[in-house]
Amino acid sequence: MSHDYDVIIIGGGMVGGCLGLALSQSSLRVAIVEAREFSEKQSDSTGKRAIALSWGSRCILEQLDIWHPVNDAAMAIKHIHVSDKGHFGKTRLSAQSQNVDALGYVVEAAKIEAVVAGSLKQSTIDSLCPASLVDYVVHDESADVTISLNGEEKTLSCKLLVGADGGLSKVRECGDFELKEYSYEQHAIAGLIKVESDEHDIAYERFTSEGPIAMLPHFDGLYSLVWTMPSELAQEVMQLPEDEFIGRLQSRFGQWLGELSLSGKCQTFPLNLSHVPNNTAERVVLIGNAAHQLHPVAGQGFNLGLRDAAILADALMSDENNIVTVLETYANRRQLDQALIMGFTDNVIKLFSTDSALFSVVRNSGLLMLDKIPLMKNQFARQTMGLGSRLARLKKVD
Ligand SMILES: Cc1cc2nc3c(=O)[nH]c(=O)nc-3n(C[C@H](O)[C@H](O)[C@H](O)COP(=O)(O)OP(=O)(O)OC[C@H]3O[C@@H](n4cnc5c(N)ncnc54)[C@H](O)[C@@H]3O)c2cc1C
Repeated sequence: MSHDYDVIIIGGGMVGGCLGLALSQSSLRVAIVEAREFSEKQSDSTGKRAIALSWGSRCILEQLDIWHPVNDAAMAIKHIHVSDKGHFGKTRLSAQSQNVDALGYVVEAAKIEAVVAGSLKQSTIDSLCPASLVDYVVHDESADVTISLNGEEKTLSCKLLVGADGGLSKVRECGDFELKEYSYEQHAIAGLIKVESDEHDIAYERFTSEGPIAMLPHFDGLYSLVWTMPSELAQEVMQLPEDEFIGRLQSRFGQWLGELSLSGKCQTFPLNLSHVPNNTAERVVLIGNAAHQLHPVAGQGFNLGLRDAAILADALMSDENNIVTVLETYANRRQLDQALIMGFTDNVIKLFSTDSALFSVVRNSGLLMLDKIPLMKNQFARQTMGLGSRLARLKKVD
């Protein structure tokens, strides 16, 4: 049976775009259907959010031949400093003790999207944009995918449909996928902060009774802030005059980076945990935020989605003619990593966003133990670096 494409990817965001790039190294015929024009996405201020890339993500971007341009726009994290406001427990992870150049890197989301889009343009992948998914029907040997392109509906057949269309996934909605959702009833305030300190290679995680604060090194002496708190409080904090806003942040974060001041406007994001326990179905698979949406404080959402893309590409390139085997291999190889990262993020949020005295003892002894026992510290570092599971092998076709 002939198909229009081997693979149709709905969603050309960071995860869908990277899957497209990985598959462009194969002989598969691939199309990416993206709803928003590239210029529209680049002018959107959410693109300014800082993404902490793990060492494992760097390894995948190297295999996609886009690490150098991403690295040109990245800040290296040499140390991670984790502490709990008002308590002794703190831990410091260092790149040197893990024998790597950096524990991770910070890059603006829009920069990664620009590099991915530029590389896709040079590739053999068909980009259908602006176009959005309308519906799809699965048959024994194909999926018929109806999209709206230039105001007209068009149906394309493929062997495999990939939903990489983000947290509000239409692929998920049109299919028979069960979504489990949990709202933290928290918002994150994100923005850029000027700091007094001239140290620019340390990432900070600071846990407070209202919620965690992450400060990631950014360009031009700035730090990128993700400050989590209950939703109602976030609305109040966003209304504060600048000096009170900074005073509040400084009192929660402390003096680790000296005096802080705002650089531009902050934004808020609602925080939910959602995931699809079975993210494969007949001829359909969900990856990235379409399959799991995490709290941003652990900086794992894109890293996890990128590993989804890499393993799916690896499975497809190993056995492109047998989609059933590809989906089984994919599900087996992704289950543990997804469950570990989701459980880890969820536990960290619950353990650290509370004022309970018992939790406070547990989390402080946890942080102290982490600092004192090298083996635990190494395992924590490897998970954070995205090296907790076997990496994909993405091979080029000559
Ligand atoms: C404040 C904040 C900080 C974060 N920090 C980090 C971090 O430090 N590290 C990290 O790893 N992650 C971080 N994340 C998470 C990360 O941003 C996401 O996990 C990642 O963007 C998910 O990428 P995606 O491609 O799966 O989805 P998206 O980025 O949502 O892309 C989905 C794409 O699909 C398109 N689309 C949607 N519907 C359709 C349709 N019907 N038809 C066609 N196209 C469609 C959209 O236009 C979009 O381009 C953070 C998130 C937030 C909010």
